[in-house]
Amino acid sequence: MVQQQKMTYKELFRNSILKLSSIADQNESEALLRIAFCHLLQCNPAKLLSIMNDECDKDFITDIEKIILRLQQHEPIQYILGETIFCDCKILVNKNVLIPRPETEELVEWICSLFERKSDFKITDLCTGSGCIAIALKKYFGQSGGYGFDISEQAIEVAKQNAKINNVSIGFCMDDILETNTKNYLDQNDIIVSNPPYVSQHDKAKMSANVLNYEPHIALFPEHDDVLIFYKTISNLAMQHLKMGGSLFFEINESHALEVENILRENKFSSIEIKKDMFGKNRFARAIKN
Ligand code: GLN
Repeated sequence: MVQQQKMTYKELFRNSILKLSSIADQNESEALLRIAFCHLLQCNPAKLLSIMNDECDKDFITDIEKIILRLQQHEPIQYILGETIFCDCKILVNKNVLIPRPETEELVEWICSLFERKSDFKITDLCTGSGCIAIALKKYFGQSGGYGFDISEQAIEVAKQNAKINNVSIGFCMDDILETNTKNYLDQNDIIVSNPPYVSQHDKAKMSANVLNYEPHIALFPEHDDVLIFYKTISNLAMQHLKMGGSLFFEINESHALEVENILRENKFSSIEIKKDMFGKNRFARAIKN
């Protein structure tokens, strides 16, 4: 009988880094493996460190090898594991929804920093995808009204599951934001927020394989390469339907901040503000209906 060679977590970790050298540098590989190890062991990074010299079992090695094969094909670790963390909320993801970005966490943190926790808010998230923005806001504000809309039925399914696992009640519903120019469900909102598709065909050339080959193009690229269409439509809808004093928040393409600002001005919004993300890029907009 062939004796299976014994291996510690540390040895497996080191061997795995070598296997990932074609797709990531040492730091990235370590980060990816830490996520994978912690996920499989259901532990945090501190606990992982404390057991690195323990021996790992055969099934664990097999599971890690399967993950490595998929990572080698540039598949994002979040899709492989089927989940990620967004603003301290566990968010399930699959190929029908974008992987929540750290910039979008900043958008949520910005909104949370501007308002007192309030239970009588009504907040709607347009182009909600996985529902991450709506869920994180609902968890923070604990508000009575939380809603999310998306054109993709499959995305809405994921958003509903995410509301469930995060123990929040949110009305997620399928709708094409661009379809009609009135949306009664937007009536009396205190906050409307949207991170719509905003990547241009020009930017597509600079995108990496893990985004282009795996993430849903419908969530990244607006139809006909019209990167402002969602901003025009949503600004118009928000001006009609937001409560007096209500706020509209956008995540934006860094190259189109000026155009978004103009669209908001044309729609008679006031206190228009553009905010940079952690990389110093114009990434968010806020405007108030007065
Ligand atoms: N920021 C995302 C990216 O770089 C795009 C998000 C969006 O289109 N809303 O891939």
